[in-house]
Amino acid sequence: MTDRDRLLRNARLALSLQLKADQILGLEALPLVQAGATRPPPPGRATARVLKEPPRAAPRPAPAPPAPAQRPARRHQPPVPGLIERLGSAEQRSLIEQLDREVAACLRCELSGTRTFTVPGEGNADADLMFIGEGPGRDEDLSGRPFVGRAGELLTRIIKAMGFSRETVYIANIVKCRPPRNRDPEPSETEACFGYLERQIEIIRPRVICTLGLPATRALLQIKGGISAVRGQQFVFWNGRNGPSGRGIPVVPTFHPAYLLRNPAAKADVWQDVQLVARLVLEQGGTIPHPDVLKRSIDG
Ligand code: URA
Ligand code: SF4
Repeated sequence: MTDRDRLLRNARLALSLQLKADQILGLEALPLVQAGATRPPPPGRATARVLKEPPRAAPRPAPAPPAPAQRPARRHQPPVPGLIERLGSAEQRSLIEQLDREVAACLRCELSGTRTFTVPGEGNADADLMFIGEGPGRDEDLSGRPFVGRAGELLTRIIKAMGFSRETVYIANIVKCRPPRNRDPEPSETEACFGYLERQIEIIRPRVICTLGLPATRALLQIKGGISAVRGQQFVFWNGRNGPSGRGIPVVPTFHPAYLLRNPAAKADVWQDVQLVARLVLEQGGTIPHPDVLKRSIDG
C-alpha cells in the first residue's frame, strides 16, 4: 500500500519534472513515449530545417569572388568571425582572435582535409560559463560557428533558460573541424586539437565548465562509465595550473543536446544539471545576467 503510494507519487513527480523542464526550455509538448513504444517521427524535415535557422545568424559578409572549384573555396578565416562584437578584456579578445587565426590555418590532423571552415568557438572571451561540445556538424562546418544546427537551437534555449545568453557564455568544441559524416572524433584527432581548447580555457578562465555528452566529458576528465553515470555530478578540470585559483575549474557533464532531440524525456535531467551549473557559477563568484530564472526551480 505505502509502496504503491510511493511509486505513484514518484511517477507523478517525474512527470511533472518533465513537463516543467519542457515548459522552461520552451519546447513543444512532450510526446510522452513509453519505453518500447514506436519511436516518434524524426523531427527535422528539410524545409523546417531551413526555416528554423537561428534568426540571429548574422548576415554573411559579401561572398568572396567565385572560385572555379565545386566545393566552397578554402579560406583562412571563417566567414562569420563571431556572433556579435566580443565581450571580454581587450587582451582576452585579442588572444582569442589570435587563436582563431591559428586554428583557421591548422593542418595538425586529418580533419583539416575535409573541413569547409574551422569552428574554433564563439562568445564572451571573459565568460563565467563555458560549454564544450564534441565537434562541428554540417551546419557548423558550413558556417564556421558552433552549435547553429537543431542541437544548437536547443542549446541556445537551455542557455537562455539558465539566465545567460550565447553572447555572455563561451561555446567551444573538443575538435574544431567537422569529423566526416559526424562520426566521433578519433582519439588522435582529439589529442591533436586539445591544445587549442586548453588555451581557450586558459584565456577565458571560466568559473564553471559544462561538458555536453561523453566525448567532451572524456576529453576533459579521466572518467570511467557512460554519460548517465556522471551527468549532474561535479568534477574538476585541472591541468596543473589552470583555473582562477590555479586549482582547476569545476566541470559538470550533462547530456548532449542532440541526444535530447532524440530523447526529450531526458530534458528534465538536463534542466537539473544546468541548474547545478548556474548555482556553481554564483558560488564561484560569477554572475548570472538574468538570475530571476533561478526562481523557476523544479526542485520544489
Ligand atoms: N554538436 C557539437 O558537439 N558541436 C557543435 O558545434 C554542433 C553540434
Ligand atoms: Fe587542427 Fe583541430 Fe582541425 Fe585537427 S581538428 S585540423 S587539430 S583545428
